[in-house]
Order: sequence, then C-alpha cells, then structure tokens
Amino acid sequence: MPELPEVEVVRRGLAPHVDGRVITRVDVHEPRSLRRQIGGPDAFVHAVTGARVARLERRGKFLWWRLQDERGDELGEALMTHLGMSGQMRVRGGAADVEAGATAGATAGAETAKGVDAPSEPAPRGEGPASDPHRHRRIVLHLDDGAQVDFVDQRIFGGLWTSALEQDADGLPATPDSIDDLLPADVVGIGRDLLDPAQDREAVIAVMRARRAPIKALLLDQSLVSGIGNIYADEGLWAARTRFDAPGETLTRGRARRVLDGAEAVMRRALDVGGTSFDDLYVNVDGRSGYFARSLAAYGRAGEPCPRCATIIRRSVLQQRSCFFCPNCQRRA
Ligand SMILES: [Zn+2]
Repeated sequence: MPELPEVEVVRRGLAPHVDGRVITRVDVHEPRSLRRQIGGPDAFVHAVTGARVARLERRGKFLWWRLQDERGDELGEALMTHLGMSGQMRVRGGAADVEAGATAGATAGAETAKGVDAPSEPAPRGEGPASDPHRHRRIVLHLDDGAQVDFVDQRIFGGLWTSALEQDADGLPATPDSIDDLLPADVVGIGRDLLDPAQDREAVIAVMRARRAPIKALLLDQSLVSGIGNIYADEGLWAARTRFDAPGETLTRGRARRVLDGAEAVMRRALDVGGTSFDDLYVNVDGRSGYFARSLAAYGRAGEPCPRCATIIRRSVLQQRSCFFCPNCQRRA
C-alpha cells in the first residue's frame, strides 16, 4: 500500500508531464476504476475532457489534479487519484517522450536489480511486478501534446474521480504546493502530513497525549496526521525507542515529538531514494524489496537482529495490523 513518500514520488514524477496540459480525451477500459465518481463514468469523462491541469497537489496519501477551464478559470473541481494497493501512473509519448513502451519495463527491471525502487509494502517472495501495464491499463487520459497518462491498476482497489473544492478550515495554503486554501471535499478533515510546514505539530502532540489509544493507532489516524501507514509508523516508533502499544496519555511531550520526528525522517529518506531512482516514464509506486532490505530497521524484519541492540525483532498484531518492534530497546513508557 503506497504511503506518503510513494505518492509524493508519483506527484513529482507526473507533474512535469501534465502541468499546463489540456486533457483532450478519456478512454475508459475499466468502469470499476471510476466507481467513486458521482454520476458514473459518463460524468467523469464529461468533467475532465477539455480541462486544463493547473498543478498537482497532495496531502498525506491523497493526490489530486487542480483543473481549470481553457481560459485559466478554476473549474471548482479536482481530479482525484487514489492508487489503492497496486495503482501506477504511466506516461507515454508527448513533449517529454523518450522511447516509451519497452524502455519503461526494462528500466523498471534495472531499478529493481539495483535495489533503489521507491519503497512500498514488500511483495511476497518471487512475485513479479504487480501490474502488467498492458493488461492492467484501466483509464487513459490523452493530453494536448500527444502524451497519454495511463492509470494502471491490477487489483482495482484504486481509482479516479472528481471532487468539488472547499476551503480548508485553517485558512492556510492547503498543501505545500498550493497557492490557495482550497481542498477537495474528500480531503477536508484529513490532517496535515509530517512534510507540510503548515502542520501544527505541537497541537498534534497535545491531542495524542490526551488519548488513551495506543500510539500506533494514533499515528495511523488520518484525521490527526495523514500519510503514515504501517511501515512508517513502525519505523518512527523504532527510531523513538517506543513500543507500538504505549498509550498516548502516557507519553511525555518529548517522546511524542520524537515519534513524529522519527516518522518524518524515515519518510524523507524514503522520498530521497524514490526521487533519485525515479524514471519519469514509469511512475512507480509498486517498488520491490530493495529499499526494505537495506534501510528499514524494524518493519518486516521479524526474526532478524535489531540494528541498534541486536535483540531479535518481534512481530505482534494490533487492530489486525502487523507491528514489528524490538522488545528490548522499544519501551511502553
Ligand atoms: Zn533493539
């Protein structure tokens, strides 16, 4: 499941191909990929055809395209992109064309060999790329420079739809890339993420320390702080030497801050890795295990030694999610 860094890698990779471009046509190969669209596929096609892409914005794991009409006036709607478990965005042709097609697959393979994919949930051993870009192309957006943006999604948990814009409650720029305070209605109520300079981290810490819930559940609460999934929660907790089941109300302010700072640092490292390996023709959120093997301290490492104290990492379950932790150097309080 893509978390914040994977979605940000997609946003950065896609933006140069779509910013300022007009969507001239939409091919719908799989209506289920538009199931979140009010009014169905016809309404989606009608809403985005002819729209100009002003810019791509992101909060947490939500990625959306701000749309204008051809004169540059706001349409009042955003094109939402949800990658689900296996979604990818691929760009073919257009102004930035560099031998698309076979090159993209070959490049992806080379990246895997070097172990520099953007991090994602590790696939079971031996499983190949989750999405075959030819078989699993669900929606194609044609742009006015001849480029095609493919939404590729094997498992169809992701999708595209449009969402009306609303003002964010705090009146600040809605995202670090925003020039106004408008957010898609579907994102209103989602907390600012750890990479957003407008996040009030002290306020988040205060809320965490007022709750009885385990710290990991609080980290995964998207209304409090967005973009943290299972991987970065476990890694942030390991960095802060804190166990997943420590109740929020038992945390000192310093410990709560270290947990959030730890999760932020791991996400920034992951973003750096994803950013440097990124191939602009293959916007990959479906990376393989290279990054994990090299860089993760706790997540997915049950039975292996803790990089800090060499105690064997254990796996437990909290609210049906795996929790990987060091039973020696991560403490409940
Ligand atoms: Zn340890």
